[in-house]
Amino acid sequence: MTEREVKYTNCGICLAACGMEVVIEDNRVIEIHGDQDHPLSKGYLCPKGKAMAQYQSDALRVTSPREKVNGRWQEISWEEAYEKIGKRLKPIIEKHGPRSVAMYYGAGTPLSSLNVSSATGFIRALKSNRIYNVLTLEFTNRYYVLEKIFGRQYRVSQPDIQHTDCLLIFGHNPLVSLDHPGITEEIKGLSKRGAKMIVVDPRLTETARIADKHISIIPGKDLFLLEGMIHHIMAEKLYDAEFLKKHTTGSEFFRQNSFRTPKEAAELCGVPAKTIIEVAEVFARAESAAAIGKLGVHVSPNSTITYWLLEALNALTGNIDKEGGLLFNPGIFNMDTLIWIVTHGKRPRSFFGNHPYLTGSFPASELPREILMDGSDRVRALFVDVGNPAIVFPNSTRTKKALQHLDLLVCVD
Ligand code: SF4
Repeated sequence: MTEREVKYTNCGICLAACGMEVVIEDNRVIEIHGDQDHPLSKGYLCPKGKAMAQYQSDALRVTSPREKVNGRWQEISWEEAYEKIGKRLKPIIEKHGPRSVAMYYGAGTPLSSLNVSSATGFIRALKSNRIYNVLTLEFTNRYYVLEKIFGRQYRVSQPDIQHTDCLLIFGHNPLVSLDHPGITEEIKGLSKRGAKMIVVDPRLTETARIADKHISIIPGKDLFLLEGMIHHIMAEKLYDAEFLKKHTTGSEFFRQNSFRTPKEAAELCGVPAKTIIEVAEVFARAESAAAIGKLGVHVSPNSTITYWLLEALNALTGNIDKEGGLLFNPGIFNMDTLIWIVTHGKRPRSFFGNHPYLTGSFPASELPREILMDGSDRVRALFVDVGNPAIVFPNSTRTKKALQHLDLLVCVD
């Protein structure tokens, strides 16, 4: 007789952690629905969460260790896998030292709450600090800027869309990416409340279609639009002087107003000066406002300075840590503390570029060069935890060449 049961859990793919109702038959996941009784997600699941039932049954799922022998995969037991990896790893460490071993963990890591600590703990136990993670591929600018502005890399804020009077979106299409439960209703509710939504995007996205204003910008030039807006806000004294005095240092830099004027900015970003001034006025004069930038900003040229100006715009208008502005959610645990623990509070610098550890990682994009380089500090063994560097790293030709150059490559997926 078929045994059927329903279990409740949460999705681990992203920080929204939506509640899930999982239907299991004979130890197989049959269906996954949003948990209607979950206090936050209230039954919501995005397409990624809904597709999770396939994770267990997908034909491509690897369920036992495999070793490549003479170019062909052979199934081996777990005992054999541990023994063989150990036998090949030991002489590498003895001959070239622990730093010849590296760990990369990818975007699948959050699916297990233990992955980050076990992956980094493993490499630390070997006495190597060569850790690389996916966040340094797509969000380097974000964590760098957050640390510079708020003093902590993971001090990520969220726009209070439910209460804001003006939502200014750069390079983001929330109606399609559905990045947190209820976002569709929140976005659609803006106009019902009389709040404004302005979307800056080279494309007329699904979100831009329902916005009050769509600003079509030359791709990658958001920086100049922000400069023009900030220039106008400072010149017209539309900034929140009290907030700046109470909560910030360094606002003198902005008061000097060495930013490009709206007219100068217009020539570089392709947005008319009149529009730049209009958006600056609407944003700064709103009772509450939130400016947000997502992947379109994070992966564009000048991403660091663009994101910095975006957060500066929020601060200059007094919209940080305020209802209707940007709010900080402490989350269920402090990521900065976790990273501090697993890195022993150290911020070593990368071999190439001398970049400090960010999110507890060297820049992942430099890993292929550190494998291919000459010299005693070369990476010779790599552990990949739920990631796919051959596809996601920049310059995949060089990355594949580097992976083939390793003495040992172990992938956990
Ligand atoms: S938004 Fe999607 S990916 Fe994120 S937790 Fe919810 S279901 Fe999972």
